[in-house]
Amino acid sequence: MTRSSDIIVIGAGIHGLSCAFHLACEKRAVTILEKDVVGQHASSVNAGGLRTLLRDIPEIPLSLESQKRWENLDQILGSKLAKPAKVTTNVGQIGIAVEASEMEWCKSRANETKRLGYDYEEIIDRKELDKLIDNLSSECLGGIIARKDGHASPANATQAYRSAASAAGVRIHERVVIDRITRKDQQWIVHTDDGAFEAPVVVNCSGAWGHKVAESVGDRLPIECQALSMMVTKRVGFNITPVVIGIDQPLSFKQTDIGTLVIGGGIPAKPEPDLSTSKPYAERLIESAKTLTRFFPSFSDVQIVRTWSGLEGFTPDRMPIIGPSTDAENFWHVCGFSAHGFQLAPETGFRVARSIVNNQVDNLIAPFTPSRFQIIKKVS
Ligand SMILES: Cc1cc2nc3c(=O)[nH]c(=O)nc-3n(C[C@H](O)[C@H](O)[C@H](O)COP(=O)(O)OP(=O)(O)OC[C@H]3O[C@@H](n4cnc5c(N)ncnc54)[C@H](O)[C@@H]3O)c2cc1C
Repeated sequence: MTRSSDIIVIGAGIHGLSCAFHLACEKRAVTILEKDVVGQHASSVNAGGLRTLLRDIPEIPLSLESQKRWENLDQILGSKLAKPAKVTTNVGQIGIAVEASEMEWCKSRANETKRLGYDYEEIIDRKELDKLIDNLSSECLGGIIARKDGHASPANATQAYRSAASAAGVRIHERVVIDRITRKDQQWIVHTDDGAFEAPVVVNCSGAWGHKVAESVGDRLPIECQALSMMVTKRVGFNITPVVIGIDQPLSFKQTDIGTLVIGGGIPAKPEPDLSTSKPYAERLIESAKTLTRFFPSFSDVQIVRTWSGLEGFTPDRMPIIGPSTDAENFWHVCGFSAHGFQLAPETGFRVARSIVNNQVDNLIAPFTPSRFQIIKKVS
């Protein structure tokens, strides 16, 4: 038996769930097909950073709008569902410079965003840094801050979108293996080990596997699957409220509400996408710990209690691919978020749903069209 809907979403990470939720709010019948379980991958294992700071210029409008949605998540999903997501904004994300060249770069970046009419990034000197964070090394010179930024619990936020999508009528099928995707009479037919599903529109939200799903309809997307690691420490006896990132140094960390430090910053791990997993490397974790103690020498005896890693799809320009395929009719790609897609999910889902319903690509997502990559061609 073939099961029909208006739209099939492939992938139940936060992007698939956000798209499905907003499509269901537009009274569309939506089915999600997930090869593992909801939120098993990047969406639940990421650092939870809600960062507008230092976004690529074309991403700024989408990111600023998404930040407003995070701030109002209780109105969008309902306060009961939104509460466990622990959205914390207005604590700031700070990019700290430890080299004079990094400080110069921060200044030119702030000038550039001001020139474009944005005023959310601000240069801060060492004196201001000391007011915001204790225990910094004497190497830290100052930096750049987006004061409204913050963080959320990634796993809980993803589950909040799942519950909201289900409540809105989205049907979610987990552990479904897609065999092939065919087209007949204006319908996409997704053949799986659990039978066939059909819909006139498909949205590819398959994260680090985005290029694989694209290939099944003849699209070649330049997505590379990479893995990134994270570490978490024991509870520490001091408070750091802002999220801290390096400018040229691979560092990103924040303190959780229970006092542990969650450390990331693009530390590579070994990707094993065919096994749906990845593995952290000791060598790279040590490198990351050294970067941390360069910024905070007093952290050298903080105990690391756990490490983990997750898979993510990276594009050549490190911006996501969002939009309809140029060749496969009514087949949308929403993937390749290049390690900063968690923050973008609330607004992206809303804009993608609106674009599909209106049959017109929304301005805010237009810069991320799949067609910007000349190497996208039909797979013969
Ligand atoms: C360690 C780490 C830290 C990060 N930190 C941050 C951060 O602080 N802030 C931020 O904004 N972003 C961060 N990111 C990036 C962010 O997590 C991702 O950009 C975002 O979660 C992508 O969501 P997604 O729904 O596209 O992908 P995913 O969550 O990976 O979901 C894709 C889903 O598609 C499914 N799928 C794939 N192929 C198929 C198929 N053939 N059939 C059915 N289902 C399929 C997968 O099983 C998966 O569940 C980080 C990423 C990592 C890995």
